[in-house]
Amino acid sequence: MKQSINSLSARRHWLIIIVAVGLVTLGIALRPIEVSANRAAASKTRVSIELPNQPDILAISPEVDSADDMIWKYEKVRKGDSLSHIFKRIDLPASTLHEIVNSSNLGREFAHIKPGQTFDFGYTQEKFTQLKLTTSKTRSLSAILDNGTWTVSEELKNIEIRTEYAQGTIRDSLFVAGNRAGLSDTTIMQMAGIFGWDIDFALDIREGDRFTVLYEGQYIDGEKIGDGRIIAAEFINQGETHRAIYYTNEGEISDYYAPDGRAMRKAFLRTPVKFTRISSRFSKNRWHPILKKWRPHKGIDYAAAHGTPVLATSNGKVSFKGNKGGYGKVIFIQHGQKYTTVYGHLSRYAKGIRKGKSVKQGQTIGYVGSTGLATGPHLHYELRVDGIHRDPLTIKLPQAHTIARKYMPELQNLSTSLFNQLALLSPPPVVGRDNAQGTDNLTH
Ligand SMILES: [Zn+2]
Repeated sequence: MKQSINSLSARRHWLIIIVAVGLVTLGIALRPIEVSANRAAASKTRVSIELPNQPDILAISPEVDSADDMIWKYEKVRKGDSLSHIFKRIDLPASTLHEIVNSSNLGREFAHIKPGQTFDFGYTQEKFTQLKLTTSKTRSLSAILDNGTWTVSEELKNIEIRTEYAQGTIRDSLFVAGNRAGLSDTTIMQMAGIFGWDIDFALDIREGDRFTVLYEGQYIDGEKIGDGRIIAAEFINQGETHRAIYYTNEGEISDYYAPDGRAMRKAFLRTPVKFTRISSRFSKNRWHPILKKWRPHKGIDYAAAHGTPVLATSNGKVSFKGNKGGYGKVIFIQHGQKYTTVYGHLSRYAKGIRKGKSVKQGQTIGYVGSTGLATGPHLHYELRVDGIHRDPLTIKLPQAHTIARKYMPELQNLSTSLFNQLALLSPPPVVGRDNAQGTDNLTH
């Protein structure tokens, strides 16, 4: 009894330390921190780390431009619209439209309209004097009437890159934890892609796994427009630390590397279907549900919804595409002399897939189905080495390439600097919970 009270107070003691350190860390995190201008991390400019930004509250109301009392009307392009329809709709003469469109080559671009675009019509003392159109996130056109002549000009905006930071702990799923940490779905997918060779995101993820990410936020005029690439990331999976850094060498070739110089990208993808579960493993003897016989299962079955994309696990050449007995619709891919992968029970093939065609790792080659001997939609995946079926989950596959020796010092400096920043920003891990190794994280 006494012991349990002691351990309880010890735990509370820990909690106080963790909260205190957490607050100190938060204080650090809230202050923008300059990151040294590493060429690879920030090839454009020096960057500052900020927490995900709030939009600028002091934006000027678009209705009235106080500077010259302009009044703006907005007109959205509808399906089947033309600019002359739009002009008619808001009672502007066709002659004005012609003057703008024929004023220059830029003027002609106003006529190439797409549904969903918005035209801004500006009026000075009830006279139409300005037309604006945003053609892309970084470009807009404006026509201005001055002394009776329309002049069209374009405005180009720079995307400003800010380094942002997010960290999260998995309680339920990677996506929920990522979103809670402020990451967009694309950045979460990027992270899963970077670590996907070392961590099986369908099977290996556990409650309490943690991630920390430095990534590029893209801004125009202070407003966030999206996320760019991940610059550095750490993923602690079942107590094991995995780290990745984005590195660009002097030949402008970029890739993700572990701090020890190994490329994160391996020769074979871990799974040919994203976010799935294994429904049947490789085994010498298993009960076949359709044949009602004991037979070896010489591949891995991945349960997935009908139509889920099936990805080539490595670069190679299609050596067979068609129907083959129990496989149903199946694709064989030859990877060099030694390796062959097989994808069975497909519902259909991806466009352009045919015998002799080269495919890239991660390319969609077909879609999950239940053709051939299958009780329900799943992918049957095989890996053959020199013609012999091997267990794709346990076989040692060719290692990833390692960064050229001459880039190693730069990669290591970059790694040290980025992960020092991440360590400053990360709250301390929760110590002592079902983690025998404690916080002694092996870089992997
Ligand atoms: Zn199977």
